Amino acid sequence: MQKVIIKSSVELTREQKLKLETGLNKVASDIDYIIDEELIGGIAIIDGDKTLDATALQDLVDMKRLTDKLVYESMSKGIAIKDIPNLLKERAKDIIDNKLDFKICGKVISAADGVVHIDGLNNCCYGELLLIGNDAFALAMNLTKDSIGAILLSSSSVGYGDTAYATGRIIEVPVGDTLLGRVVDPLGNALDARPAIRATQSRRIEFPAPGIVDRAKVKQSLSTGILAIDAMIPIGKGQRELIIGDRQTGKTSIAIDTIINQRDKDVICIYVAIGQRAAAVSKIARTLEERDALKHTIIVLSTASDAAPLQYIAPYTGAAIAEHFMYAGKDVLIVYDDLSKHAVAYRTISLLLKRPAGREAYPGDIFYIHSKLLERAAKLSPELGGGSTTALPIIETQAGDISAYIPTNVISITDGQIYLEGELFKAGQRPAVNVGLSVSRVGGAAQTKLMRLLSAQMRLEIAHYRELSVFAQFGSSLDDTTKEILVYGAKIVEAIKQPEYSPLGELQEEIYLYAIVNKALKNVTVNRVREFLEAYYKYVVAQAPEMCSEIERDGALNDVNEQLLKKLTSDFVSAFK
Ligand code: ATP
Ligand code: MG
Repeated sequence: MQKVIIKSSVELTREQKLKLETGLNKVASDIDYIIDEELIGGIAIIDGDKTLDATALQDLVDMKRLTDKLVYESMSKGIAIKDIPNLLKERAKDIIDNKLDFKICGKVISAADGVVHIDGLNNCCYGELLLIGNDAFALAMNLTKDSIGAILLSSSSVGYGDTAYATGRIIEVPVGDTLLGRVVDPLGNALDARPAIRATQSRRIEFPAPGIVDRAKVKQSLSTGILAIDAMIPIGKGQRELIIGDRQTGKTSIAIDTIINQRDKDVICIYVAIGQRAAAVSKIARTLEERDALKHTIIVLSTASDAAPLQYIAPYTGAAIAEHFMYAGKDVLIVYDDLSKHAVAYRTISLLLKRPAGREAYPGDIFYIHSKLLERAAKLSPELGGGSTTALPIIETQAGDISAYIPTNVISITDGQIYLEGELFKAGQRPAVNVGLSVSRVGGAAQTKLMRLLSAQMRLEIAHYRELSVFAQFGSSLDDTTKEILVYGAKIVEAIKQPEYSPLGELQEEIYLYAIVNKALKNVTVNRVREFLEAYYKYVVAQAPEMCSEIERDGALNDVNEQLLKKLTSDFVSAFK
């Protein structure tokens, strides 16, 4: 490729060179810098047959030509000689202005709240990265005839009149293994007290979602280690499952437990914190580290004090980091905590950019910004390596209203939702999963045969229990069957309670479920249900290790094992005191 020649009368500074390279979208090796003192001042850029001459020498030549012309016109058109200097000044200004209409740079005409308006950058593209002044970066979001609206990505001060350059690039963030175990900001800079990140690869934060032919069916399970979810609202690799509920109902805890459960399972986890308190996220990082789960996790953090643009790009950064691993054939789990705050950040930006506001003052494209994000989660076809990204977006509702604008949007984009209820949480039912309102549209296909069989029965029992307990509140005398269902239902509900940070293994969940649906809890009092299950599992594993490894291998219970497990269960039930 032919090099671009830049001539100047003096050696350019490093900073000036950098600006030129950015502005011209070239790297240093594409440019030959030549010093030519005769040029007096300014620079000339020669790119093949195109020349942009902004040297003082050229200005003199132009001025000479202009003066000659004016003197000639003064003779022929009757311009007074005394007017010539003024005319000269005016025309000279035109010439210089035209020259400065070097379209890769513009001028900041307003800057406030992380949004800048730029005049004169008329060849920039939507989503292009802009350099403002020496070190501030911005993202072009609004292109109009008169100006460009851009969102600032750095906190460096930007003022009226600063020069803005189009870089010809889309934002990229570092990706790859070096990020594992790290906490980074949405631009990929380290936020933990460890050395700067030296990634060899980077990836655009915006990337089209895989098309239909690129996808495969969701068929492997991604277990959360939470019995209530794995049994009744199972999640598959490549699925998008929404976690929705009021504030303080244990939404984050479910996501964190799921991350902890991926220890030693070869699933890379990404936790994207959007507009959260820094202290809360540092606690999460500590929790993960203590449980040896940080080494397979990357935390992308934008705090509540970060400007809206950073909060807005954070999930896209997370998605780009996830895609890198997914296209390398790995399984990834990504948590967006939470998309309600993301929607608010985007609303702020849109209002500052003076875009028309729609329902609840959100802009018209709020659905699209969430769908384009969540569509990037996928199970890839074997031809593309078979990697997957499972997304767990989180949405916070107000007073349990799941029919508000943002919740309904995200519900319709995802493949199901885990609905957490404040009332259940307060009543001590934790995790506070409302089984009736929760659903997983694709995860069932990923369950093992045994789990599917057992959980279908349990789901029915719980539904039955809930229905009857409503009637029981009327206080009418109940028949024996109803009483039995109510008493046993209360035990099932107790059995699916689970403290934080204590994920169960798949085998353990299956053994628990077997005991639950086969009425092993019949003679156990409610307050001893958990104790019973834990002891029962230990007993089964100790008595029949071979059967356990067969269940783990096949995900099913053959006739011989079924008889064995039945016998072990009845033995244990009679021995349990
Ligand atoms: P926010 O709306 O503030 O983001 P959240 O819905 O994400 O809240 P969490 O932060 O996960 O909720 O949990 C709220 C509180 O409930 C925390 O103090 C957490 O320790 C506790 N908690 C969550 N899950 C359980 C559980 N299964 N058992 C006991 N306590 C729990
Ligand atoms: Mg939370």
